[in-house]
Formats: sequence, C-alpha cells, structure tokens
Amino acid sequence: MNLKYLTDTELLKELEKCVQQERQLSIKVLHHLKEVDRRRLYSDQGCKSLYDYVTSKLGYSAGAAYRRVQAARMLAEIPEIEEKIQGGLLTLTHITDAASFFRENQIHKKEEKKEILAQVQGLNKRDTSLKLHEYANKPFVRMVSVPLSEATIHKVETWRGLRPAIHTPDQLIGDALDIAITKTERSRHSTGVRKLVYQRDEKKCTICGSTHDLQHDHIQPKALGGDDTVENLRLLCFSCNQRARIRAGL
Ligand SMILES: [Zn+2]
Repeated sequence: MNLKYLTDTELLKELEKCVQQERQLSIKVLHHLKEVDRRRLYSDQGCKSLYDYVTSKLGYSAGAAYRRVQAARMLAEIPEIEEKIQGGLLTLTHITDAASFFRENQIHKKEEKKEILAQVQGLNKRDTSLKLHEYANKPFVRMVSVPLSEATIHKVETWRGLRPAIHTPDQLIGDALDIAITKTERSRHSTGVRKLVYQRDEKKCTICGSTHDLQHDHIQPKALGGDDTVENLRLLCFSCNQRARIRAGL
C-alpha cells in the first residue's frame, strides 16, 4: 500500500473510512463472541470461560480480552448499543467501566442500564468515572496516581496483611488514615491535659512542694481504670511518686 501519492484530503478521507471499517469489524468480533458464549463453545475448546478462550485461543491480552467479553455480553443484553459503538460514542472502555459499575451497584434493570450508558457516551475515562459516581450519589472521587517509594509500598503491603478484611486501595488508605488521625488526636489531647495539670499544680509536687523531677501521677492508677483527665492527674516529684506507688501496692 502506497499512500504517498494521495492528496491530503484523500488521505484523511481514507483514514476515516478505515476507522469506520475497524469499528464495523470490532462489532462483528463482538457478535461472534456473543454467539460463541451462547453456545458455550469455549468449553469444547478446553477453556473454562469465554475470557479464557479469548486470551488463550484468540491471543488477546488480558485487558483487551476482558473488555471484549464485557462488551459482547452487554451487546447481547442491550442490542441498541451497537449503533453507538458504530458511531464511536461508546467504546469498549465505556462498556467495561459501566459493566463493573452495574455489578458493584447491583443495577439489573435494562432501562436503567441504557440510561446510564446514554449519560457516559462520548465522555473520556475520567469524566465517565465521575459521572458514574455522581449517578450512584457517591461523594466526589478523584483518580490519582501517586509515585510510591519501595519503603511506602512495603508499608502498604504490611498494612494489607494486618487488615485482611480490607480490599480496595481507597479502603486501605482510609483505614490507615483513620488510625493515624485517632492516634494523633489522642496524643495532642494528652499534651493539652498535661499542660493544664502543670499549671493547676503551680509547677510543684502536690505532696512536698518540690519543683524537681516532676511527674504526672494518676490519682486512680491506670491499671485500676483511672483515665487521663485533668481531675485524675496530679504533679508529684519522683520520690513522692515512688512512695505513692508503693502505698498503692503497684
Ligand atoms: Zn514530693
């Protein structure tokens, strides 16, 4: 094929025609997959699923296979999308994103699916994701890609091991932040309480009046359920604190 002698206009026109043919061919592939799926022909080929067949027998990459299987099934369910794929309004990516959204949000009605697909048609990946979240009335979600160091990845993996019930990266980060926030707030609170006790007891031991080696003592010991409140704390010097501990049998 020699395109060198085409005029610019001819070249662009030819290209548009090829893209159109490519879409038609993609749809043809989807229709064939749909029929193979209906006949469960993949099991005759020694494959355990349509996806398995598309990757191992047809040679598509994992992502490409996944998108085609999703689209073929969507086409079987909602034949009207064919026209939109043909017109370039819906891509395999739209369909794949919508299909996982339907699953996650347990959307089963055909009419609702059609409405959602109509809302995302023509949008880029990011806007599709925003539109879907908006539809589910979920709070604003941003796709972020963050470069992570080896050390951080190691921490993420360690955290994942400690919290096996947590699945998505969003849950994992949210969970870690919840714990970090609680811990920081607690430590800030405790610093504040200790300062107040220090001022109230006028920076001296509440038993002997010494200003040396001052410590915060729990009047009701922590081991016996005493808490970190201003009321339950007092300033004691090291010696008085030791004596108080012995007397309390600690
Ligand atoms: Zn003292």
